[in-house]
Amino acid sequence: MQKLSVIALDGPSGVGKSTTAKAVAHELGWQYLDTGAMYRATALAVQRAGVSLEDRQAVEKVLAGLSIRQAGTREFLGGEDVSDAIRTPEVTRWVTPVSADARVREVLVEQQRQIAATGGWVVDGRDIGTVVFPDACCKIFLTAGVDVRARRRALELEAKGTPQPLADVAADIARRDLADSTRAVAPLRKAEDATELDSGGLTLDEVVAWIVAHHRRHGA
Ligand code: C5P
Repeated sequence: MQKLSVIALDGPSGVGKSTTAKAVAHELGWQYLDTGAMYRATALAVQRAGVSLEDRQAVEKVLAGLSIRQAGTREFLGGEDVSDAIRTPEVTRWVTPVSADARVREVLVEQQRQIAATGGWVVDGRDIGTVVFPDACCKIFLTAGVDVRARRRALELEAKGTPQPLADVAADIARRDLADSTRAVAPLRKAEDATELDSGGLTLDEVVAWIVAHHRRHGA
């Protein structure tokens, strides 16, 4: 299979995929695609339309009118900058059932393939190495224990001025781990040919340097 110059960065919630992916893309002079933001923007669109996922016709209508765009690190829904709106705890709850919907995934996976078809992209998500880009030249599965991820996420939320109790953050991460890894369609799992990196004892700079070196050795 012809390899595509895409770095597929998968892993569970709160492991630092987006920060890592952004830094790796910067280091390589590549572009960065945040597929989680696409599922979040879709969840926001479904939520705003007030439709139930059981109402297939209504979901199709939302998907038909869906216009999602990433510009730099900002996410746009139909021209509106929704970068902050998609990070609320409410959208974080909504995104779980929305991202488990097979039709939603079909539409978003197609968009992701079109966006990164040219190569030169670092793409982060849950199913990038397994489903979206099985032909990616470099696949990394980033892990860390729930406690480490919860602590990191709690610090991030505090720095953003939206602190949440550590126990709540940990419970949310555990809930999303379970939902993402047990859903029927495109569950979170390591691709057979992905390399697992436990970021637990590493700094962000160390993780980025490791991925860049790994890519230069094996993926480029
Ligand atoms: O990466 P982030 O936590 O922002 O993703 C939000 C949610 O979108 C995840 O909890 C997961 O359910 C879903 N997602 C997914 N497939 C992807 C990226 C994200 O199912 N490729």
